[in-house]
Amino acid sequence: MCGIVGYLGHRDCSDVLVDTLSNLEYRGYDSAGIAVFDAQNTIQTVKAQGKLQNLRNKLEKNGRPEGHIGIGHTRWATHGEPSDINSHPHSAPRVTIVHNGIIENYQELKEFLIGEGRTFLSETDTEVVAQLLDYYYDGNPLTTIDRVMGEVSGSFALGIMFMDFPDRIYAVRRESPLIVGVADGETFIASDVTAILQYTKNYYLLEHDEIATLTKDSISFVDKRLVPIEKELKVADWDKEAAQKGGYAHFMIKEINEQPNAIMTTVNPRIKDGLPNLEECGLTLEMIREFKSITVVACGTAMHAGLVGKYVIEGIARVPVTVDIASEFRYRNPIIGEGDLVIIISQSGETADSLAALRLAKQRGAKVLAIVNAKGSSIAREADMVIYTLAGPEIAVASTKAYITQISVMYLFAFELALAKDTVSVAECKRLTKALQQMPEAVQYVIDTVDETCKFVGSQLITAESLLYIGRGLDYALSMEGSLKLKEVSYIHSESYAAGELKHGTISLIDDDMPVIAVATQSDLMEKTISNVVEVKSRGAKVILVCTDACAAKIKDGIADYMITIPHTDELLMPITAVVPLQILAYYTSINRGANPDQPKNLAKSVTVE
Ligand code: GLU
Repeated sequence: MCGIVGYLGHRDCSDVLVDTLSNLEYRGYDSAGIAVFDAQNTIQTVKAQGKLQNLRNKLEKNGRPEGHIGIGHTRWATHGEPSDINSHPHSAPRVTIVHNGIIENYQELKEFLIGEGRTFLSETDTEVVAQLLDYYYDGNPLTTIDRVMGEVSGSFALGIMFMDFPDRIYAVRRESPLIVGVADGETFIASDVTAILQYTKNYYLLEHDEIATLTKDSISFVDKRLVPIEKELKVADWDKEAAQKGGYAHFMIKEINEQPNAIMTTVNPRIKDGLPNLEECGLTLEMIREFKSITVVACGTAMHAGLVGKYVIEGIARVPVTVDIASEFRYRNPIIGEGDLVIIISQSGETADSLAALRLAKQRGAKVLAIVNAKGSSIAREADMVIYTLAGPEIAVASTKAYITQISVMYLFAFELALAKDTVSVAECKRLTKALQQMPEAVQYVIDTVDETCKFVGSQLITAESLLYIGRGLDYALSMEGSLKLKEVSYIHSESYAAGELKHGTISLIDDDMPVIAVATQSDLMEKTISNVVEVKSRGAKVILVCTDACAAKIKDGIADYMITIPHTDELLMPITAVVPLQILAYYTSINRGANPDQPKNLAKSVTVE
């Protein structure tokens, strides 16, 4: 959620801060602000509710703080409404900070500080930290920060400037991500490395409770006992173009178009002699053979990738799979222990509930496999084994290429597991693996051929207030994702139902105001799904049918109002191509309704709070 940046160097700091903040816009936010040390070494703060453009306008109108050292923030409000006052940076007399996350005990700290005569301007939990830093300030920033770290609980990443030290910025984090970047004569802090890629690829990952001290020419770290530590310098392997729109109108459609390449990059290096090989990720056949059951834990889109994984793994490897929502799993005393495999899926690798689920699973003796996109993220580091999805930076809030690579990894894993469990022959596993390797081409074909139809169908959905997705088996798992995509970016209420479940209640909602999107890619279930289509159509629903060309050839004209057909490939793999029209449909529906698909309201890219 939200973004933190900081800069020390020779450039105009206000410019760099706004620039780097704009690279973090994708994370979702509702206000923005910067604070800069000026020539007199006083801190100038400018903040504005709403989009970064409001901040730019304000800086234009009132003048920009001139200086070379400063911090910036895009806020995703948790405590106090989005407003100028509640926007960050927040200050106390000798301290100015930006904060990402939640201070859970802020109320009691606030009461304590009020008792000590402190007054507050905002409703935020963040201002409490600024005041507390000022309250405990002893002339030494490190001991002061350490003292405050001992008092606050919750998740946070902080960028801190002390009035008495105008040549430096301090950075500290617990749970929320923060990196420290370095170039020649310039240093940075940022919520993630994509923010600073145009300046440098070199960075350090700050670990929990470590404190970084930055000047423009130096970076030093201490651990939580304030003992100096050396850290490994990392080099980002994403380039700055990957984090820019490159001629597309939106990141969402750019990333949809990047999917063939993302699948190829994710799948190909994990194939050896025609078979999946995940040894580099820490998984051997001998090891995975032992797992008797699997629990996939994730949130949102990643959880839907887990659902596809369940159908695939159970279908071919015959190992029972439970898919759980991370925020439920962590609080329901799950039955998990030694000998179990827990798979955590997360694009950012920082999803708070998924991280907590991971820790719980490990505590109980389960082995944890992480499927994440962001290298070196908390989930990747804490898991026993990691399979990275190599989708590159995903900037649009609504996930597309991360999802498609997550399911690609689920296939690789399922094939390997099936081999380990001897539920498929080597020849069959090779056939499936080859089919998976052909998916980039198939996805490219779908992208090229469904665009116009999806654009048109999307224009027909503008006035819908609510719609349903239906499907069976893998098509149901996929519909869950299609429905989420649509509601995320178009703000149309939508739900996904197992087609066979409609009659058990939901069909009562069907009338001519309720479009139904049916997905039918599985030949053994097609006739049954088509019967459900006929049922809703005869009750007035407009039906959009997403099906294979093989299915389309078999059904009668007029069964659906609109058809989106895709080529028939191996049926087990159909979700990989069938998700594409659902994504593109959501994209165009969003645009047709005048929304911004890249930054849906109220949503944040990486959900680092509960
Ligand atoms: N809890 C803080 C606030 O509401 C920070 C939110 C954020 O991470 O942007 O201001």
